[in-house]
Amino acid sequence: MENKVLIFGHKNPDTDSICSSLVMEKFNKNLGLDVEAVRLGNVNKETEYVLNYLGILPPRLIEKLEEGQKVILVDHNEFNQSAEGIENAIIETVIDHHRIANFQTKDPLYYRAEPVGCTSTILYKKFKEENMQIEKKEAILMLSAIISDTLLFKSPTCTGEDKKACEELSKIANIDVNKYGLEMLKAGTDLNDFTPEQLINLDAKSLSKGNTKYVIAQVNTVSIEDVLKREDELKETIKKEIDEKGLDLFVFTITDILNSNSEIIALRK
Ligand code: MG
Ligand code: MG
Ligand code: MG
Repeated sequence: MENKVLIFGHKNPDTDSICSSLVMEKFNKNLGLDVEAVRLGNVNKETEYVLNYLGILPPRLIEKLEEGQKVILVDHNEFNQSAEGIENAIIETVIDHHRIANFQTKDPLYYRAEPVGCTSTILYKKFKEENMQIEKKEAILMLSAIISDTLLFKSPTCTGEDKKACEELSKIANIDVNKYGLEMLKAGTDLNDFTPEQLINLDAKSLSKGNTKYVIAQVNTVSIEDVLKREDELKETIKKEIDEKGLDLFVFTITDILNSNSEIIALRK
């Protein structure tokens, strides 16, 4: 087993999950801790844009956790969104901005949850609280995560704290947030090479409430119409997914990042 503590975000990792893992790695290394950022799935095109911009490689992919592995969770807490084997891992820390559900530990832990738009906004505050200097690389990782999760501050989940953090980070990074942000978001909207199966799984979260199992998935686009050209195919694929995974509901959201508009395809069992 690996002695170092593994840091990761949710399955089907988005930009916040990848960037916040890398930033949390740096934060802990600054404190002299033995940690490694890893990931639970493929890096999407938007995140690829960020990593290419910085000229860095994505974190190592892991398939599952060994029993007793020490871990730090960022950008999620629900076990059904986490690594295989999470039930028998030792969760040392959680830094998250989501609801708390399907989560339980044997041991005490450090848990920080804040109702802000992005995990990186909380990490930014942690750097400040420790009086730790933020380097350009981490500034770009954090502001990218904030732009992604808040869709350039247009998402209803965006808070004043996210905007303030991003503004401070853009000064360190010396970046025009609107210009960079739009390029980054656009890089994630090239959906043409994806099969319908890939499309509905690009950013999909498995959730449950009581005995109800559901998935909420989202794709970003600059043309909802373009995605809806494949509506029939998408519906067929969603139906198959509902059958195969025994879901009660599948919500597929197509978001126009330029006009902050969304269309939803919702199908149930
Ligand atoms: Mg996320
Ligand atoms: Mg997030
Ligand atoms: Mg998201």
